[in-house]
Amino acid sequence: MPAEPTGPGLLPFVASAPLVDHHCHGVLAASGPVEQLLNEAAGDAAADGMALDSLAGLALRKWCPPLLGLRAHASATEYQARRDALGGPEVNRRFLGASGLAALCVDTGYAPTALLSPAETASFAGAAAFEVVRLEQVAESIALTGVTAAGFPDAYRAALAARIESPANGVPAVAVKSIAAYRVGLALDGRRPTDAEVSAAVARWLGGRAERGRDGESGNDGESGNDGESGNDGESGDDGERRPPRLADEVLHRFFIWCGADLGLPIQFHVGYGDRDVGLHRCNPLLLTDLLRALDPTGAPVMLLHNYPYHREAGYLAQVFPRVYADLGLATHNVGSRAPQVLAEALELVPLRKFLFSSDAFGLPELYYLGTQLFRHALSAFLRARLDADDMSSADAERITGLIASENARRAYRLPRWSR
Ligand SMILES: [Zn+2]
Repeated sequence: MPAEPTGPGLLPFVASAPLVDHHCHGVLAASGPVEQLLNEAAGDAAADGMALDSLAGLALRKWCPPLLGLRAHASATEYQARRDALGGPEVNRRFLGASGLAALCVDTGYAPTALLSPAETASFAGAAAFEVVRLEQVAESIALTGVTAAGFPDAYRAALAARIESPANGVPAVAVKSIAAYRVGLALDGRRPTDAEVSAAVARWLGGRAERGRDGESGNDGESGNDGESGNDGESGDDGERRPPRLADEVLHRFFIWCGADLGLPIQFHVGYGDRDVGLHRCNPLLLTDLLRALDPTGAPVMLLHNYPYHREAGYLAQVFPRVYADLGLATHNVGSRAPQVLAEALELVPLRKFLFSSDAFGLPELYYLGTQLFRHALSAFLRARLDADDMSSADAERITGLIASENARRAYRLPRWSR
């Protein structure tokens, strides 16, 4: 079965550590083409199996075939055929079942019907499920209800509170998430907007119109659409579903964030690497500095997601702001065999009590498995180097593993106890 890598194996306490994945998405219900969801490319950039000839593709072909009964490094064609023969549910069961996940915090902000719910996704791993509510989706859900611009601030606060208190997906909602990075970038003002400013922004946003389905004018069709982060990629196609115009207003994204902070919940921010809708040049987390300073007195934890290639900047912010946390989700599997080096960089400054595991897996079951496998190997390599240099004791290495694998997430999200 799975081939062990060359070199020293995993430290046993890293291999066995149950992982809390504090940010991921739902898994696909049915089998599909692997290369379409392997990285952030879409359209022509993802054509002809381009994604497979990358470190992520090579990592997939090293780690994943043995779980389907194939030899490591099996060809992409052979792999896809075997996968198709097994079918979606069995492939989900094999990869999620082998991931060693104890709990998943699932972002439901972009959930086409082909994706399974948080509880269904977690069930393949025998893990607990929690939900992360996307702030912008709550706004979009009330935009078509006839709410006036003047009434919007109160309506939004009420809708967000109701969404948290009565989870739509049947599992506890433990955090909110901002995709300001995808829409306006991270250079957000630190000031809380007034209700009058919010109402004026809503009037600009909605302008009294609502649009149907895929409509280039609405800006809702995007180019990206395979990572689920921007969520506005027009998956509804031409089904006639009514949608508000694309939401991209600095005042509104900032208002949503403050509403999340008022609830005291951890606020996840997309930072850095994402699909081409993101404008990576506007996604350095240092751009959040003013807002982080302003949010600090609220006590709401701020969770910087992904961060690559700004993972060192994120580590700095986590060091100097008491309630800022960081992870390396999405990048861990995308950099493949380079994960140990990138993780080591991410851990240079960050307090080890404030670094979390995330896969940011979306759709493809392999990504939950690759995310956990590559993370375990990277963390093990990091700790082994410190042990070999006598920089820490074995007890320290074991304790730090527990912090990063699950305890930091349990504390930051105040996760309820679960059986595993
Ligand atoms: Zn995500």
